[in-house]
Amino acid sequence: MEDFWKKLSEAKRRALLSDYDGTLAPFVEDRDEAFPYPGVIERLSAIRQSDTRVVIVTGRSAREILRFLPTDPPLEVWGCHGGERFLPSGELHTLPLTSAQRAALERASEIALALLPERRVEKKPLSVAFHLRGLSYDIGYQLKELLDTLCDCGLGLMPFDGGLELRILSCTKAMAIETIIAEEGDAAMAYLGDDLTDEDAFSAIKGKGLSALVRGEWRPTIADVWIIPPEELLSFLDRWIAASR
Ligand SMILES: [Mg+2]
Repeated sequence: MEDFWKKLSEAKRRALLSDYDGTLAPFVEDRDEAFPYPGVIERLSAIRQSDTRVVIVTGRSAREILRFLPTDPPLEVWGCHGGERFLPSGELHTLPLTSAQRAALERASEIALALLPERRVEKKPLSVAFHLRGLSYDIGYQLKELLDTLCDCGLGLMPFDGGLELRILSCTKAMAIETIIAEEGDAAMAYLGDDLTDEDAFSAIKGKGLSALVRGEWRPTIADVWIIPPEELLSFLDRWIAASR
């Protein structure tokens, strides 16, 4: 870590990339109430003011993140695992779905709603997520069997911490990270994430920046360091602010 802080303090350009749920915000029963840990918004704003590009990379839609992390100007957010890109200027770019993909997502929602309550089926702009936390393994297995038939036309059923998501296979957090790395060149950068879907982002930043697993319990990961939220997360952000001065 000391090498990273030294590099950060000497860098002309800096970029802090982070996942949202489970990383900057604790998991809560109602995902509409997943507000960030106290102190996160203020620190992200201070980090931005110290000439760091701050980017949120998430499976949620960009619009939802802007509600949880209101800043002025708004943050750059790559939503829907990289399928959406929202810029601080207010521009939103969204990857177009094919009509076959749109129909498959619609069908997947119908199938899932026969098995799960509505609050567990999350329709997003480019995917459908099935929240299975606390349910029996059988339900997940049954759902997977039913949905696997919809996995042609470029869609895939991908696991995340607490469920499954039917989404565009070519959209990954790694794609978002690679684009930012290409734009930032040799900037000092870090990526923070908690979930299985963050592993490809950790892999994309390997050798070019620091990757940090932010999680209460350790799990096997390719990330460089492990941060326990919220205390160690807030300390990390404070250290970033101090190193940027
Ligand atoms: Mg997460």
